[in-house]
Amino acid sequence: MVVETSPLLIIASHNAGKIEEFQQVLGPHWRVKPQADFAVTEAEETGSTFVENALIKARHACLATGHAALADDSGLVVPALGGAPGLRSARYSGSGYEDNNTLLLNNMTTLQGAHRQAFYIAVVVLLRDAQDPTPLIAEGRWYGRIADAPRGEGGFGYDPIFIPEGGSLHAAELSPAEKNRISHRAKAISTLLALADD
Ligand code: IMP
Repeated sequence: MVVETSPLLIIASHNAGKIEEFQQVLGPHWRVKPQADFAVTEAEETGSTFVENALIKARHACLATGHAALADDSGLVVPALGGAPGLRSARYSGSGYEDNNTLLLNNMTTLQGAHRQAFYIAVVVLLRDAQDPTPLIAEGRWYGRIADAPRGEGGFGYDPIFIPEGGSLHAAELSPAEKNRISHRAKAISTLLALADD
């Protein structure tokens, strides 16, 4: 049960959807607050891996607030494109989600079959304080393939063109509950919770 004396955990994100998801799963363990409550600025994501960027964001929030912090970094990886969009998933085309999807589909017109395989990755990091030498680090992957054309209205980002393995529905056609049950972020969070309970 969370009481006034439970430790505070700052969510190092400004994304309302993610904050809500983290609040739901971590709420029973921590007093969870978004970094906006402490006027934390956006950290500069200068890392060259998802883990580095998640650590940068969590440490930035720890330093700014003096509390434990949790951050995540995520993206879409297409091995046949050398890992692109990868770390640049959010800004692949230089404009919004729709242009990112169009650019990715255009870059894959010659790729068929197994070459269209892709996965989402999420890395979640929990730092107890800015100098914590043993951060909790968890990764989740959601495997699938890139469709030939977008479909569905749900989700965000690349969901209209991502078909999770084992089915034919696009991720944007799944209910939020279903997506939150099987996604890369859900897997990373559940692994992190197991680490936190150890
Ligand atoms: P960030 O972790 O908020 O920096 O997200 C990076 C980018 O990865 C997002 O802007 C999306 O383009 C993509 N991405 C991450 N997770 C998802 C997802 O669940 N669905 C669709 N796109 C995602």
